Amino acid sequence: KPTLSLRDLHKGYNLGKPNEVRVLQGASLDVAPGEVVALVAPSGAGKSTLLHIAGLLDTPDQGEVVIAGEAMNGLSDRRRTGVRRGTVGFIYQFHHLLPEFTALENIMLPQLANGVARARTEAQAMALLSRVGVAERATHRPAALSGGEQQRVAFCRALANAPSLLLADEPTGNLDPETSERVFGALMDLVRDTGLAAVIATHNLELAAKMDRQVRLSGGVLEPA
Ligand code: ADP
Ligand code: ADP
Repeated sequence: KPTLSLRDLHKGYNLGKPNEVRVLQGASLDVAPGEVVALVAPSGAGKSTLLHIAGLLDTPDQGEVVIAGEAMNGLSDRRRTGVRRGTVGFIYQFHHLLPEFTALENIMLPQLANGVARARTEAQAMALLSRVGVAERATHRPAALSGGEQQRVAFCRALANAPSLLLADEPTGNLDPETSERVFGALMDLVRDTGLAAVIATHNLELAAKMDRQVRLSGGVLEPA
């Protein structure tokens, strides 16, 4: 069964008011385990809205989100939060690392908050940092890292709880093209290693072409690109 099913999603803002915006108007998508889907969309098309709904940060007005066979509609907030923390990893365009903590600590903090033992979390975090080539920077704070290194640390943080679904919103969007390509390569290696299902939004058509499949968000619906 698909890791993620989005079924006929509708979402709008300020509905019924003069400033009404209809963003999603029947968007559907299935992502199989291990499948990496590129989401391409012009700015303002509703990419963030879609990713937030898929990642259980927001709810649709109509339609259904099904994660690993479990329908999310009608779940309690508590259960939704549980599924989000246990199943979904997020990567944003800006890394949102905490400046006062080291790279290693930034990766470990969500895990420690979830009650995972420190020794185990630390070993996992170091393994991830090694995998993306940032192990020697483990004890540096974000300000001492390059943009590409910061973003690779954010990838490690997103994958630290071994999610089955990765959602990324322009994961290399704030990096120069050369760094972007290298850092994206590190992300794809990680994703392929872990067999994650992923939806990765990008404006970069070269990067999109390296994924398994491309979908375009346009006019509120998703279609093959
Ligand atoms: P994208 O990520 O593709 O740029 P968004 O999902 O952020 O698109 O936004 C899609 C549309 O919905 C835009 O027109 C945006 O202005 C509007 N929008 C997004 N969030 C809100 C909100 N909270 N209230 C009103 N309008 C919103
Ligand atoms: P943008 O869509 O403008 O690039 P972000 O992707 O950084 O902005 O964040 C979009 C929204 O997601 C924000 O409104 C924020 O509240 C929410 N958000 C970001 N990170 C998290 C998180 N780790 N947990 C819950 N909500 C988050």
